[in-house]
Amino acid sequence: MNGKMKAIVKTKEAKGAKFKEVSIPDYGSEQVLIKVESTSICGTDLHIYEWNKWAQKNISVPQIMGHEVAGKVLEVGDRVENIEEGDFISAETHIPCGYCYQCKTGKQHICNNMRILGVHKDGVFAEYAVIDKVDVWKNDPTIPAEYASLQEPMGNAIDTILAGDVAGKNVLITGAGPAGLISVSVARAFGATQVIVSEPNDYRRKIALEMGADKVVNPLEEDLTDIIYERTDGIGVDFVAEMSGNEHALNEALKLITAGGEMGLLGLPDDNVSLDLTNGVIFKGITLVGVTGRKMFNTWYTASRLLKEERIDLDPLITHIFPLEEFKKGMELMESGNCGKIILKP
Ligand SMILES: [Zn+2]
Ligand SMILES: [Zn+2]
Repeated sequence: MNGKMKAIVKTKEAKGAKFKEVSIPDYGSEQVLIKVESTSICGTDLHIYEWNKWAQKNISVPQIMGHEVAGKVLEVGDRVENIEEGDFISAETHIPCGYCYQCKTGKQHICNNMRILGVHKDGVFAEYAVIDKVDVWKNDPTIPAEYASLQEPMGNAIDTILAGDVAGKNVLITGAGPAGLISVSVARAFGATQVIVSEPNDYRRKIALEMGADKVVNPLEEDLTDIIYERTDGIGVDFVAEMSGNEHALNEALKLITAGGEMGLLGLPDDNVSLDLTNGVIFKGITLVGVTGRKMFNTWYTASRLLKEERIDLDPLITHIFPLEEFKKGMELMESGNCGKIILKP
């Protein structure tokens, strides 16, 4: 399709981005062109906007930002099967190579040659976007576009919670950014008996309660240890979802897991962290599981079922909806932490 479109483009190797007119992108024989209906801002987008160390190493400008998306297929490449014009789709954002050891052994989500939508190629904060056929996920038409675009971060939360066994168990979630908040309702949906959330930001603790947390704790003002032992009959929690990437939170959580417990780690520490492996992990028989991306496409089936059957309510999570051109408001809110998930619409 020829013509112009509006997009949020990272134009300079510095903080910021521009809302500007660019050409509607060309697509290859194994790609589809979509009309974007809804997108959402991820922590990764904020890193790219702020131009942190990770972004400086991974992003080449100019590039269209964004990766969480739902939209309608407009055109398909000639080597694309089973996807048609008009299909309502979302996109997995990890683009696996298809031939490395991990890809060949059923672990495409940790492909050795991974490329990522909106990181290594133009993203979706635009009126139109190109999606690789391997990443197309056909949505159930009953799922609203705002929810459909959130299946990507839902996948992170689902993989983190599934890193252990939460059914009938006490769960601690450290950090209530969007992925932590989704994890609250995922843990509930998977049968956790009690979900406790530790988060310093007042606004996010409030959303955590709306997402179904039984107890929220401000770790800077309250004694998390006392609260956990009191609420778990002195046992400690069975499972921790570590979503903060904060060294102190991680070490405290290791102390609060009961021996034999499990921890899924999604939060990314900025630097190396030091852990008491001997007493905190080895002698306690703790299982630590690193989580990256989402299992392809197991988590997508789970996310869409949870949405379709309304086992999860994402309404409290969606705190702001802006048109694309007001993306700066969204980025500033993300910086302040006073938001849940922010939707951007073309
Ligand atoms: Zn994301
Ligand atoms: Zn691969």
